[in-house]
Formats: sequence, structure tokens, C-alpha cells
Amino acid sequence: MKRYDTIIAGGGIIGASLAFELARMHHSVLLLDRQEPAREASWAAAGTISPAPDRESSGITAFGCESFRLYPAFISAIEAATGEAAGFHAGGAIELFFDSDAEAARDRRCSQIREAGLDAESISVSEALRREPAINPSARAVLWISDEAYLDPRVLTRVTLNAALRIGVEIRANAEVISLVTTNGRCDGVLAANAQTARAGDLGVRTAEKIEANNVVIASGWRSNEIGGAEMWAPSSAVRGQMVGFGRVAGAPKTILRCEHGYLAPREDGRVVAGSTLEPGVLDKRPTARGLRKIFAAAVEMAPALADAPVVETWAGLRPDSPDHLPIIGSTDIQGLFIATGHYRNGMLLAPATAKYLAEWIVDETVSKHLEPFSPLRFAAAQRKPIASEE
Ligand SMILES: Cc1cc2nc3c(=O)[nH]c(=O)nc-3n(C[C@H](O)[C@H](O)[C@H](O)COP(=O)(O)OP(=O)(O)OC[C@H]3O[C@@H](n4cnc5c(N)ncnc54)[C@H](O)[C@@H]3O)c2cc1C
Repeated sequence: MKRYDTIIAGGGIIGASLAFELARMHHSVLLLDRQEPAREASWAAAGTISPAPDRESSGITAFGCESFRLYPAFISAIEAATGEAAGFHAGGAIELFFDSDAEAARDRRCSQIREAGLDAESISVSEALRREPAINPSARAVLWISDEAYLDPRVLTRVTLNAALRIGVEIRANAEVISLVTTNGRCDGVLAANAQTARAGDLGVRTAEKIEANNVVIASGWRSNEIGGAEMWAPSSAVRGQMVGFGRVAGAPKTILRCEHGYLAPREDGRVVAGSTLEPGVLDKRPTARGLRKIFAAAVEMAPALADAPVVETWAGLRPDSPDHLPIIGSTDIQGLFIATGHYRNGMLLAPATAKYLAEWIVDETVSKHLEPFSPLRFAAAQRKPIASEE
């Protein structure tokens, strides 16, 4: 039976980029996905590559800046491996402020971004209109952020998977990792349900196969906590986000736009996607009237021309969250078991740095300081029950 250097459970952008990096370091890699790869959060994302601190949380800012720095080289590597364009556009972003305290809100946001070491500049509405004629001239204050890029996450994930395939990664769709296999306290592989369903009377019976590897990485997005034996280190959960896709219309924005209630991300072909909602624990991927109403309102407020754009798609995806909303990346205290999940709202941004530093950890056993805040051990310690003492 073949024994792999590394098995990765999950073929979203995190599993795909890690598989590519590991294969570049001459690891034999098997990537398993319970469905077609690249059909979960990485399919649903907007595709803003935005290292500026989030309005709520700044715990990933340094890591986000590092990943942003790594992006051009990552894109060049996957494009060289495949001959396909990954569609990365570094063109900055505009934040718009409409409320009565707009100028104060802009100044607070500007300081927050500059404190993180990134460039932000207050600009007049007329200057903003010069840079992006699609914006609403009734904005009361505007901020320009230069370190931002956009891409199409469906394209990026597909090209990354193709790049991984081209350099020797084995990819199996419809192969669900059910549990870890551990031998003498060491992770020795996985038990995976294969796609064939044998019929036994009226019952569908799935057959499971043990696949051996020296290392296993759980990169299964919001479902990571369902894999038997990994829950303690990967207490993932889902946060639904709804999205709208607008077809081409004259006067649509070509720059990322953001306001307090939503954002717009352009696509190469003139479409624009708008997001989003934050709905913890909702697993239904059908968009709702309430969610879409919020997105439409913010989209038209930022870029009035979108009021006449055809709506070509609406969808929802499930972001992989963690209890402290930070990623979970690194080794566990089971030898050979690694976790890469919980990238929440920033998995597209964080993929190059996650892949590079986790691959170095797995192959060279070098632990980057960039990964220190994200150790899976922070949850395991809390979950371990104290051993009852015998009276
Ligand atoms: C609406 C929305 C907008 C977003 N916008 C952005 C954005 O603009 N910028 C940004 O940086 N991020 C964004 N994100 C976040 C980003 O999409 C995620 O953080 C990222 O896609 C996570 O990638 P992943 O590979 O960890 O998970 P996923 O893409 O969910 O992939 C996990 C994979 O694991 C597979 N899997 C699950 N269980 C198993 C199992 N037991 N065995 C085998 N395979 C399994 C799944 O089928 C799936 O293919 C957005 C997310 C959403 C939902």
C-alpha cells in the first residue's frame, strides 16, 4: 500500500495552496475532498485581498500583511506551473463614509490602518471621483487604501489545484475523511469513505479505506471539527455570508469599494460582486430576502449605476470560523497531525502565507513566528478534561 508524505483533507484554497507548496518541496501529497474540490467557502468568496485590519478584529493584520507581500510570487508560481492566468489585480481600494460623523469615522479608520503599518490617505470626494467615477458623489468622506487587490476566488482556487496536479499532487474528489488513524500516539493516516456506495437491502453502505501517511493536515473548512479525532484542535464552525453578482453595466466600479454596510469587488470581465452578511451557525446556503436587501442597499449607495445592472447570480457560502475568530494553523500534540482552518473572512488573503509557513513546518520542522498566534494547542488545552482523582 502506498504511503504518502502528507494527506490533506480538504480541497479549498487552503488545502490546494498547501498541497502546491508541499509538492514544490518534493513531498508526495494526496489531497482528499468529500465533494468536488473548490466548491465550499473558496467558491463563495468575494475575492478582496485586503490586509488592512478588519473593522472588528486586528489579530491577523501582521500575518495578512505578510501574505499580501507573498501574493505576487505565489501567483507567478501557480501561473508558471499551469500556463493559466490567475487574475490578480493590485489596484487599491476606496472606503466611503455616508453618516453624519463621516469625517471622524474616516479619521479613526485612517489611524487604525496606518498604525498597522499600511498606507491610507484621506482624499476629497472630487479626487475620489477622479480615481473611480462610479462612486456616489453624495459620500461625505473618503479614504484611499493602496495595499489592496482583487481576484476571482473560483479562478484562483482552480488554478492552484491545477498547479498542484501538474507538479504531482494526487487529488481525489468524493473522498470524505471520516477519522484519523493513530498508532502508538502518532497520526498514521486517515480513514476515508470512498465514493462507491454498495447496496445492502435498502441501506446505502459506504465503504471506508485506510490511507497511510507520515503527516495529515485537516484543511476541511467549517467542517474540520467533524473529522473523528481532530475536533479537539479544530473546533471550527460556520458563518454564512450571502453575495450578489451584478452583470456588466455602464458606470460600474473597477476598484474595490467599501462602506460600513458592505463592499463591492470588481471582476476582470466587468461584473461586480457585492457582499455580504455575517450569520453565525446558519448552514442553509440559500440566500434570503433580508440578506439580499441589505447587500443591494449598500451596493447602490456606494455605486448608484448598479441600480440598473442585471443581477446575474446570488449565492451564500459558509466561512470557516474558530472560537476566537483567528485561524488555526500548525501542529497538534499528536505527532504528524496538523491543522489549517478557521481562516474565517480572510482565507483568500491568507492562503500564500498559510501554505508557505505550514509547508516549511511540515517538511523542515522550522516554525515561523508568523504562525505562533494561531496554534491549534490553544483550544486543546481548554478542552482537555481534568483527570478525576480516585478517592
Ligand atoms: C461570502 C464570503 C465572502 C468571502 N470573501 C472573502 C474575501 O473577499 N477575501 C478573503 O480573503 N476571504 C473571503 N472569504 C473567506 C474565504 O472564502 C475562506 O476563508 C476560505 O475560502 C477558506 O478556505 P478553506 O480551504 O479553509 O475552506 P473551504 O473553501 O471551505 O474548503 C474546505 C474543503 O474541505 C472539504 N471537506 C470538508 N470536510 C471534509 C472531509 N471530512 N473530508 C474531505 N474533505 C472535506 C470541503 O468539501 C471543501 O472543499 C469569504 C467567504 C465567504 C463565505
